[in-house]
Amino acid sequence: MILKTVDDLRAVARGWRAAGEKIGVVPTMGALHEGHLSLARRARQECDRVITTIFVNPKQFNNPDDLKKYPRTLEADAELLATVPVDAIFAPPVDEVYPDGFITTVTMQGVATPLEGHMRPGHFDGVATVVTKLFGMTMADRGYFGQKDWQQLQVVLRLVRDLNIPVTVVGCETIRESDGLAMSSRNVRLTAEGRQKAPVLYAAISRAAEDIRNGHADRMAIREAAETMREAGFERVEYIELRDAETLMPSDDPRRPRRMLAAAWLDGVRLIDNIPV
Ligand code: AMP
Repeated sequence: MILKTVDDLRAVARGWRAAGEKIGVVPTMGALHEGHLSLARRARQECDRVITTIFVNPKQFNNPDDLKKYPRTLEADAELLATVPVDAIFAPPVDEVYPDGFITTVTMQGVATPLEGHMRPGHFDGVATVVTKLFGMTMADRGYFGQKDWQQLQVVLRLVRDLNIPVTVVGCETIRESDGLAMSSRNVRLTAEGRQKAPVLYAAISRAAEDIRNGHADRMAIREAAETMREAGFERVEYIELRDAETLMPSDDPRRPRRMLAAAWLDGVRLIDNIPV
């Protein structure tokens, strides 16, 4: 069942809720891969009804070219979701989500400020706004998000607490290709050579995390990781940072959970990844 309007979605969701069924939502921007499907399968196990939303949210793109080039593959996506299966796909047009006169934005500071928030101004306000709306539209009990976008997951956890949104947020493990590259809808934009080099991102931060666990200096380990990536052909390493896993603030306290997060450009494609330290 592919739904295009909020009214249709609401009618379906209301029926499920009235029957006492628990609804899980998996928000995506489409161009689905195994990472997305793992979220949908987890929702399938834990909920009576599963809705996958497919919406390329213009408000979370700070780069118009990235928005224009973002892959859109609804038919193939629906076929993949049928293998889970999910109960409904919500794939609204932009003016259904942001009709004329739309003026409300959810703005966040704190965990939304550094790293992706710094490099992509407005990105997390766009995410927080659309996630708040999708939770409201789907009337979901549980929302499924990937650790691939670690900062986004922390932002959404904070959002539901701050706004008393009655949705349990579930963080799911990053699904990787066999060579370690984190699956991403943007990977299809890599050239064949770029695709060969791309796993160096994960390999380099994994090595740095291991060195740090073995007592090497944080800064040195990170500098070596950046050097490895540049040597492999990455055009630009935007950041490699060791942060508190929850607040995303700088952390040199090994007793608290820490996360290494990285963003880098290869073939004109921006790749991100993160791992526990
Ligand atoms: P996107 O379509 O890129 O907005 O991603 C939709 C959801 O899928 C987000 O919660 C992502 O974190 C999650 N996701 C994307 N890639 C992966 C992956 N490789 N493993 C696990 N989850 C992922």
